[in-house]
Amino acid sequence: MTELHGKGVSGGVAVGRVKFHKQDDLCVKRRHIEDAAAEKERFEKAKELTIDELKELYDKALREIGEANAQIFEIHQMMLDDPDYVESILNFIEKQNLNAEYAVAVTSDNFAEMFSSMDDEYMKGRAADVKDISARLIRNLMNRSGNGTDSEEETIIFADDLAPSETVQMDKSKVLAFCTAEGSANSHTAILARTMNIPAVIGIGSELSEEFDGREAIADGFSGVVYIDPDEKTREIMLKKRDEELRKRELLQSLKNKDNVTLDGQRIEVYANIGGLGDLGAVLANDAGGVGLFRSEFLYLESSDYPDEETQFQCYKTVLERMSGKKVIIRTLDIGADKQIDYFELGKEENPALGLRAIRICLTRPEIFKTQLRALYRASVFGSLGIMFPMIISLEEVRQIKHIIEQVKKELSDEGIPFAEDVEIGIMIETPAAVMISDILAKEVDFFSVGTNDLTQYTLALDRQNPKLDAFCDTHHKALLRMIAAAAKNAHENGAWIGICGELAGDTELTEVFLAMGIDELSVSPALVLPLREKIRNTHIESKDKLLHDILN
Ligand code: PEP
Ligand code: MG
Repeated sequence: MTELHGKGVSGGVAVGRVKFHKQDDLCVKRRHIEDAAAEKERFEKAKELTIDELKELYDKALREIGEANAQIFEIHQMMLDDPDYVESILNFIEKQNLNAEYAVAVTSDNFAEMFSSMDDEYMKGRAADVKDISARLIRNLMNRSGNGTDSEEETIIFADDLAPSETVQMDKSKVLAFCTAEGSANSHTAILARTMNIPAVIGIGSELSEEFDGREAIADGFSGVVYIDPDEKTREIMLKKRDEELRKRELLQSLKNKDNVTLDGQRIEVYANIGGLGDLGAVLANDAGGVGLFRSEFLYLESSDYPDEETQFQCYKTVLERMSGKKVIIRTLDIGADKQIDYFELGKEENPALGLRAIRICLTRPEIFKTQLRALYRASVFGSLGIMFPMIISLEEVRQIKHIIEQVKKELSDEGIPFAEDVEIGIMIETPAAVMISDILAKEVDFFSVGTNDLTQYTLALDRQNPKLDAFCDTHHKALLRMIAAAAKNAHENGAWIGICGELAGDTELTEVFLAMGIDELSVSPALVLPLREKIRNTHIESKDKLLHDILN
């Protein structure tokens, strides 16, 4: 038995025979051409043909994996028309009298190199996209058709790398798993594998060799291990793992595209929490109704200096676009306490959890806050945006925030930059102070989102970072549940809606209680969306008043 180790990017266990997928070797030659105008025309024709093919692929993907995932082929069409990409190709043809195939190949290498060297993981993943569209373009210039990959048998596909279009073109009913030598967790192939629920292991390296073609294998997309010619014991363990997973998946799959409605007809939104673009694949694969908390501070934590407006804009825009009109709630910078960033030079504090953190930093350093708000409002035209503010304790803070928002909107208007008028403004309820004045605060905002992680720590006076306190931490403490109930009542009586985005939102022992309180939205980690949906759909509440009375008294 041989073990290959890579990175599991799409869960599941596959057992079957290996099929080594060879990438079409395009072997582009550099040639001097006489007639640059004719060569340009040949390029334009091939480009049009490629765009037509991508339109067909988009339709196929739309049918098989849904609009959000099919979008990559729209993006590919746009990439092919990108002025910088096209200009680079035309320059090679016109200025250096080089053949179109070579012009495309060199441009592709340059662009892929540029993407690969970017800090942002999502942008790094775009290197594979530019190579994919360029290879298609070159094939059309050479009048070659793509590499047929479908086989009669169900197989585990091994490849050096797989382009998104190759992945989509394959007959999914014949693919048991994808295993590649290269690839990144954020590549669209990884995202597509997750969406199609096909186990995938990437980054195996040169160990993944063509000599495994036709051999028996087991691919474990959870652990990232691939077993070639597995022994009996491994086979037995892995088959058990596969069957358990399949049973769980079937149950969860049957819940996709279903409403989050209780047996007695109460509806609640189930959204997902994310820390960055890398989590979006899981949000979509688990069919979340929106993003209920984007912890934007990760953008700052991953960077060695303040991320500028453009970097932030691109990131927020991408989230909004990929969520295709579903609600996306982005929380403004929440650092301090356990999330320290050197370049903020916050200095040492005796009690950081009670210190200069979150909105307090933003209001004392408005230039940082304004940069983020400008990026958010600029991105707002690309989807349905909500912005929320962490660690609120007073009405004055909310008024100050709204004043700064007005300044930002005015600046953008004066500069002729569009922004959406219907951006929802919300605050996090994570301090007892915010709960106690939630009737007053609700009049100022569109929504509340209860941050139960901090609300628990501040209500019970238990440092959330201190493991020694675990024994004292009762996450179902009546004080906490009463706080949430009070915030919900005050929100609804004063025209705001209310969600929960702390970890407690995913605690299915409390789902009935939250429903009885009239909570409008629960935002949980992507993997909990479908289990929570299952819980909601199996819930029937006889009497909400009685349930609340019993639990809160
Ligand atoms: C919370 O406090 O519950 C919350 C969602 O915010 P964070 O965990 O990022 O502090
Ligand atoms: Mg918090």
